[in-house]
Amino acid sequence: MFKQTLLNTIFDYNFEKSCPGSSAWIEHLPSNVRNQGSLTVNLLLGVKTAGGRRFKSCLGHNPFQGYAKMSKCCHLRAFSCALNLLNARTSRLSRSGAQKIKIEKMVKKKLKFPLKGKYLVMLAPSFVVCFPYPEIILALKKIGFDKVVELTFGAKMVNREYHSLLENSKELVISSVCPGVVETIKSSFPRYKKNIANIDSPMIATAKICKKTYPKHKIVFISPCDFKKIEAKQSKYVDFAVNYKELNEIFSEQKIDFSKFKSKETFDRFYNDYTKVYPISGGLSATVHSKKILNKKEIKVVDSVLNLKKFLKSPDKNIKFLDATFCKGSCIGGPAVFSPLNITQRKKKILEYLEKSKHENISESKKGVISKAKGISFIRR
Ligand code: SF4
Repeated sequence: MFKQTLLNTIFDYNFEKSCPGSSAWIEHLPSNVRNQGSLTVNLLLGVKTAGGRRFKSCLGHNPFQGYAKMSKCCHLRAFSCALNLLNARTSRLSRSGAQKIKIEKMVKKKLKFPLKGKYLVMLAPSFVVCFPYPEIILALKKIGFDKVVELTFGAKMVNREYHSLLENSKELVISSVCPGVVETIKSSFPRYKKNIANIDSPMIATAKICKKTYPKHKIVFISPCDFKKIEAKQSKYVDFAVNYKELNEIFSEQKIDFSKFKSKETFDRFYNDYTKVYPISGGLSATVHSKKILNKKEIKVVDSVLNLKKFLKSPDKNIKFLDATFCKGSCIGGPAVFSPLNITQRKKKILEYLEKSKHENISESKKGVISKAKGISFIRR
């Protein structure tokens, strides 16, 4: 009864925005609930998993009072709520008003159009699930971005660090490319904190390279992920993070019509082909060239937070590398991916994109070559 009333209250607000991790939770809910939107799902989770206790601590002692607060600023409050759920053990964020405000500010930082000054946009390779390639590049230029680069070269540099770490590590290494995984471990499985790879994510790695090459440009990251907004805010290398749904809204506001584009515009810099598979489950371990270091049985790929937790609760001691991502299907199942395609079809799109890029005629100056990253450290500080 309580749950039903709660759900009705949530539905009345008709929230539309997505929250981090929502796609991972969605799979466990009945379809009628699933269809109400990801925010609902995150909120429901608070009730479902902790009998209301965790939810109450998240938004104050009275959940309905919490909803009233949310009605003023629904997405931001829900975002804090989702983080609190991940921070389940202590509810530290919920107890700290200052921290909550800090998170809201993180999400609030928005790009204003028309853009003033020079902006460089880094595009996560999962974009092909939502936007046509290469038309997206011209579309981004039309709304004011000066340079458009892909994230794949940063991923290549990250892979080199993983290769070296796996070669030398005697303990389990857990990938840190997905901030959802890092947050989950920090909040719910702190004993594994020491196992998290101390290596930059492809977003930070690419941003470091871009800042070096284009020091005067503001750096914008476009991805399917809201966790990345926090990661971006915590870094001095990324100025703005925008998700695919938000980008689509920007294109609509700016009256961008892809069907009119005939351009063959290509990315400005830093091409790399094989790391285009990064947004699919196991993308990192498939491209880290670990054949001579680990055998297949020593690598475990998990996608979705539930599978991650399952592994961490009863780990297989033979596993030396855990390639983990928070969303089901990895980033192609991220909360801001909008597509009627299922995970298998989305994966196919990524593989087609990879194949296509192998045959593209890209000039040497546009390719991601290691000398461009010379002198940059990709170790997390
Ligand atoms: S799997 Fe990708 S989209 Fe999902 S939380 Fe991790 S980085 Fe973000």
